[in-house]
Amino acid sequence: MSIVDLRHGSAEEVLSWTYKRFRRVALVASFQAESMVLIDMACGVVEEPEVLTLDTGRLHEETHDFIDRVRMRYPIRLRILSPDAGELDAMTGEHGTMQFRRSVALRNECCAVRKVNPLARALLDYDAWITGLRREQTPTRAETPVVAGDPGHGGITKVVPLARWSRAQVWDYLRAHRIDHHPLYDHGYTSIGCAPCTRATEPGQSERAGRWWWEGDSDKECLLHPPLDADGQASLRGVRVSVPLGGARSTLRP
Ligand code: SF4
Repeated sequence: MSIVDLRHGSAEEVLSWTYKRFRRVALVASFQAESMVLIDMACGVVEEPEVLTLDTGRLHEETHDFIDRVRMRYPIRLRILSPDAGELDAMTGEHGTMQFRRSVALRNECCAVRKVNPLARALLDYDAWITGLRREQTPTRAETPVVAGDPGHGGITKVVPLARWSRAQVWDYLRAHRIDHHPLYDHGYTSIGCAPCTRATEPGQSERAGRWWWEGDSDKECLLHPPLDADGQASLRGVRVSVPLGGARSTLRP
């Protein structure tokens, strides 16, 4: 299947193409509903897909419990990424542990230390990464390509099999395949991240309204998926990223 065809391919076809095409593939999971669809599909495509997740140090206990349940059910190789201890010490020493409530810049710094930098370091080991973004989640995700080079991670390939899926399709898939979901969905959450930065949403609110709710109309992004500027380069809004970006080489299967 060509990249042109992939724009219209099913999620299973996109995953299958990815695992055939690249040797080192990371499925990056937050263990929200979309992650569960991808893990279930990936386990049908390859044996023991490698799954990366970010333990920011601020996750809900329910998230840890759920990850444990998922790893018992699925034959995945789970790699848990942690923040660099030195970066964390420097940040908390300067700003404390609740800095993210004080400004968007300080929130971005926390996300950089706890999420963006650990993922950037880990992705140096891979040729492609898979993520559960969907275009309808936020306006900044509306143009997300299904498959594209990722300038924010050294040009490796970023694969988004559910880009065209609706929220209803995700939940239909989980029900049809009898797949467990994160327990906080049953408490009104529609998007789940770190505990102090996520809350349940009200009916009629956007899916990600519960993320960094005190910021009101911010773009609800943490720079794991930075918007591209006019030159097609990842725009990191001045956030310090500790890993030199660029230089990762893609290894294709013969
Ligand atoms: Fe820090 Fe909140 Fe970002 Fe988690 S979501 S890394 S606690 S600012």
